[in-house]
Amino acid sequence: MTTIASALQAVRQRIELAATAADRPVAAIQLLAVSKTFPAAAVRQAYAAGQRAFGESYVQEAMDKILALNDLPLKWHFIGPLQSNKTRPVAESFAWVHSVDRARIAERLSAGRPAGLPDLQVCLQVNIGGEASKGGVAPEELPALARHVQTLPRLKLRGLMAIPEPTADVEKQRRDFRMLRELLEQLNSQGFQLDTLSMGMTGDLEAAIAEGATIVRVGSAIFGEREKA
Ligand SMILES: *Cc1c(COP(=O)(O)O)cnc(C)c1O
Repeated sequence: MTTIASALQAVRQRIELAATAADRPVAAIQLLAVSKTFPAAAVRQAYAAGQRAFGESYVQEAMDKILALNDLPLKWHFIGPLQSNKTRPVAESFAWVHSVDRARIAERLSAGRPAGLPDLQVCLQVNIGGEASKGGVAPEELPALARHVQTLPRLKLRGLMAIPEPTADVEKQRRDFRMLRELLEQLNSQGFQLDTLSMGMTGDLEAAIAEGATIVRVGSAIFGEREKA
């Protein structure tokens, strides 16, 4: 059985190889360990192996885990679908939210962010490929949402996130990630200063890094296969 420490090491090596192949500094790519569905004990093992940033997708599960691990200096990233009646605990306990896809969610996160904490770091989730089920703002609506989020107090707009349709076709993976990068570049050419592309998971992190990912969100390659929901 692979341990979490050795699995993490293998993922770090994949990131290094992909960064080298893309002629990018490995330090430009942050590994987010996606611990959803795995217990606090698994997060502790990853922490012991040097991992500090963890991603969660379900609010209640995340809150239980954050409480159980509050003796550790961890950075929590919310990456799942967010309903407007569940924004408060996310605003209070997370450092980042990657999945903001509408104004109302952003406004509620802004209102719920305690003044004593650093600004909540935000990525806008974009629906690449137009799949209705995956969530995310349509590319045409992205600039208006970005302008709005930029005005909200206690939020810091950092960049874009996407979950493209899974495919083994590496060229297709790269086209999807390239589209997200180009959307970020377009926003920056309009005066935004976004520095974050949250893209790439266990199956496609190499393609994401080749196209400029700055955060890769990796779950099963670190913690093992999840039970199918
Ligand atoms: C579950 C999840 C991941 C991790 O997926 P793996 O394929 O297990 O690496 C990444 N991003 C999001 C948004 C997720 O929900």
